[in-house]
Amino acid sequence: MYQNFLNSLRDQTGILLRFDDIAPNMNWKMMDRCERVLNKYKIKPVVGVIPNNQDTELLSYEKRDKFWQIVKHWQNNNWTVAMHGYTHVYDSETRKKDYFKYGGKSEFFGHTFQEQLSRLKKGKKIFDDNNIKVDTFFAPNHTYDLNTFDALKKAGIFKIIDGYGLSPFIKNEIKFLPQLFYKLVFIPFGIQSTQLHINYWNENDFIKFENFIKKYHSKIIDIDTAYSKKNENSLIKVLDFFIEPTLKIKRIFAKS
Ligand SMILES: [Zn+2]
Repeated sequence: MYQNFLNSLRDQTGILLRFDDIAPNMNWKMMDRCERVLNKYKIKPVVGVIPNNQDTELLSYEKRDKFWQIVKHWQNNNWTVAMHGYTHVYDSETRKKDYFKYGGKSEFFGHTFQEQLSRLKKGKKIFDDNNIKVDTFFAPNHTYDLNTFDALKKAGIFKIIDGYGLSPFIKNEIKFLPQLFYKLVFIPFGIQSTQLHINYWNENDFIKFENFIKKYHSKIIDIDTAYSKKNENSLIKVLDFFIEPTLKIKRIFAKS
């Protein structure tokens, strides 16, 4: 009985690596180093690609030509390419009314369905023109409203890596994969995605990343494996129930 419980806990545990802010202008030296580590351990991450990056902060990084050939190469190597916004420029403010109550600025929240659909379609077309399949999305700054979900479905995108929880869930006909942490942490229960912003990394961050991969590579899973996990372990079910209010309370105190 106890062994069954442990086996199911182990089976329902895994971590997906999500690289944010991938664009022609970025910290390519760091990306190259990460890629070598990922390939060494045969890890298949998600790369969140900004199709038409206009974010001035990101534009200050080194530009690499043939960007879309690089993205295609990653996809051929079974990495998952996700769409991360359209231009990555914030032009609305959520005032904590966004779907996950994160607050802050947004590229999508508050805009009309038509405007959101237009941005998503223009973004999707860039992937299509470069012969890159994309069915997964995550918004800059985690900010969505119900129009975002409708527009995504209309644009043919049904998966989002964001939200609370310890296992994949379906809401508004969208398959969500929770994204809880901003740092490389491994919790020994549940399915989680970890957000990595390599543009800001220094040498020490890279060493931490390399050590994390060495230690936990057997727990790192690809997106299809993550989505295939069901919430069947009783402990994960209970923790899943509490994680959203707990993290929301933590965030309220952190900001006050
Ligand atoms: Zn971003």
